[in-house]
Amino acid sequence: MNSTFIMRPYLSCVLLLCALSFLSTVCVQDSFILEKKLISLKCSSPRAAGKEVSFVMIHYCSDAVESPSKPYSVEKITSVFERYGVSAHYLVDRDGKVYQLVEENRTAFHAGKGKLPFAPYHENSLNGISIGIELMAIGTRQEMKLLNVGSGYDKIAKTDIGFTEMQYKTLRALLNDIQKRHPKVLNNRKHIVGHDEYAPSRRPDPGSLFEWSKIGL
Ligand SMILES: [Zn+2]
Repeated sequence: MNSTFIMRPYLSCVLLLCALSFLSTVCVQDSFILEKKLISLKCSSPRAAGKEVSFVMIHYCSDAVESPSKPYSVEKITSVFERYGVSAHYLVDRDGKVYQLVEENRTAFHAGKGKLPFAPYHENSLNGISIGIELMAIGTRQEMKLLNVGSGYDKIAKTDIGFTEMQYKTLRALLNDIQKRHPKVLNNRKHIVGHDEYAPSRRPDPGSLFEWSKIGL
């Protein structure tokens, strides 16, 4: 078989993807699919002048409080964000697809009050200099108690607890992408942090089931 026969279907696929991207704002990045699904501007604010992004904060979220047996609806999760006026820049679903909820040039409301022990000078002000990434995931029973999931934890399928391999793969690629635009986000655990390191008394995410080594950190 000569190369023309191999290339033609490939080109058709590329052209089809480009056409779809144009029509539906779905982009095929290097190794993940990103769909823009921006939420209300009331859930974020313009980034203040001079505030350079130098942190990425990792979170998990689900709808386990209201729907423990079906906890991963993008619509329900974003409607909860809208209800409480909170947000993150990105939401990664169980298959590793990325939804962009907030533009990077805006401050998303994801970190809240807290302090990183190794960067105390950013107390209660990390939102302004960070990008927030939510992974659709559920932590341990103990962690979820902090998020008001009590007896409902027993209704959660085992496969819905923890993180998926596709999420780790996408997260690494998304971090690489973010670091290209924001070189102050160094590739270490002082710049790529968990919500639980910043606000340990109130936030358990990404928690003990998240394997940092799977994103090379
Ligand atoms: Zn969080």
